Amino acid sequence: MGLYEAITHYGARIDALVGHTRSGRRIMNTSYGTLDTKLHGLGIHRASLCHVLSKHLQSLPHQRLMGHTVATVDTAEDHTMVETEHQGASQSFRFDAILIANGSHSQLRPAAWTRFDQLYPWGAMWSMQPMVNAFAAPLLQQRYHHASQMAGILPTGSQPDKPGQPLASFFWSLPVSQMADWQHPDFDFSFWRQQALQLWPELETFLAPLSHQSQLLAATYRDVIMDCWGKNRLGVIGDAAHGMSPQLGQGANMALLDARAIGKAVATSDSWPAVWETYHRQRGPQIRFYQRMSRWLTPAFQSHSRLVSTGRDLFFPLMEQIPWLRLQMVKTVAGLKEGLVD
Ligand SMILES: Cc1cc2nc3c(=O)[nH]c(=O)nc-3n(C[C@H](O)[C@H](O)[C@H](O)COP(=O)(O)OP(=O)(O)OC[C@H]3O[C@@H](n4cnc5c(N)ncnc54)[C@H](O)[C@@H]3O)c2cc1C
Repeated sequence: MGLYEAITHYGARIDALVGHTRSGRRIMNTSYGTLDTKLHGLGIHRASLCHVLSKHLQSLPHQRLMGHTVATVDTAEDHTMVETEHQGASQSFRFDAILIANGSHSQLRPAAWTRFDQLYPWGAMWSMQPMVNAFAAPLLQQRYHHASQMAGILPTGSQPDKPGQPLASFFWSLPVSQMADWQHPDFDFSFWRQQALQLWPELETFLAPLSHQSQLLAATYRDVIMDCWGKNRLGVIGDAAHGMSPQLGQGANMALLDARAIGKAVATSDSWPAVWETYHRQRGPQIRFYQRMSRWLTPAFQSHSRLVSTGRDLFFPLMEQIPWLRLQMVKTVAGLKEGLVD
């Protein structure tokens, strides 16, 4: 789309994912440069991404409805209908085709195409804060204590309306069953802060602006497996099509690759069935790989199992010592894998 320069202007370069246990033992160290010195990740604020896309769209003919909730989608042989709700009023729109792209909690994806749809038992509380020196390196950093405590910090670049203020996103792993307690007015935020500092003392300056639990938002994720991502004039894309746990940090990558695959399929196919056939063929193997891997890996980072976390602490550093396994690890977090050995 020719937006690389604009997007890297707002985003923060990420060279590696580095994870340590509470005692300081390094168990994750995957550097994109191992594959190619030009490769890197990009941490970016959603507002900046939307700003860049919005500016680009201005030059293209389109109509955009902001603040509308899509209530239903319906397909007929030669057209589709969308019903939206906006400020208490319903409206219907007719389109040639529909792409459902409303995230992993989608209520719009067809139930008949969905084989599995389950909430992960753990989620995360997260917050975007001004960057501090301790975390300014171009790294996604994580800190673990067994698998029951995990925190992470990702440099996230700046927002278009505050260009001089670099930000970082912070997350704290939490069982979904404890999220209601977190949001309760009696929640002991200072006790939580002590726990966080015990896990990761360097967080002190970063957490200083946070004084209340409402400054961290809850995020939950789903495991969604669909047998079909498109039929007739209706398609599903991104997390709506294949929600997964963010353990491998691939959800946004996969959504972008879906978009590219559909764009190419539309440009080269002469019918909707041909578009969906190409989309399934191109995206199926990679999506299946990442969904499986994130499903298998999640308990090693988000569970109460000491056995699994001990295995993680032994196995991950070992993987780093074996060149082939190390390469597979880097390719996995770079979003380049298509299967266990590809
Ligand atoms: C804690 C956490 C950390 C993550 N870390 C990473 C990472 O490091 N790297 C990475 O690549 N991915 C990461 N992800 C995953 C990533 O955020 C998602 O995969 C990505 O946002 C999916 O994009 P999407 O456009 O498909 O859906 P979303 O980003 O969920 O967008 C869906 C949009 O649809 C809107 N919407 C929902 N319902 C309706 C409706 N009925 N009508 C109108 N609009 C609607 C929503 O408001 C939202 O704006 C993380 C996720 C979480 C929760």
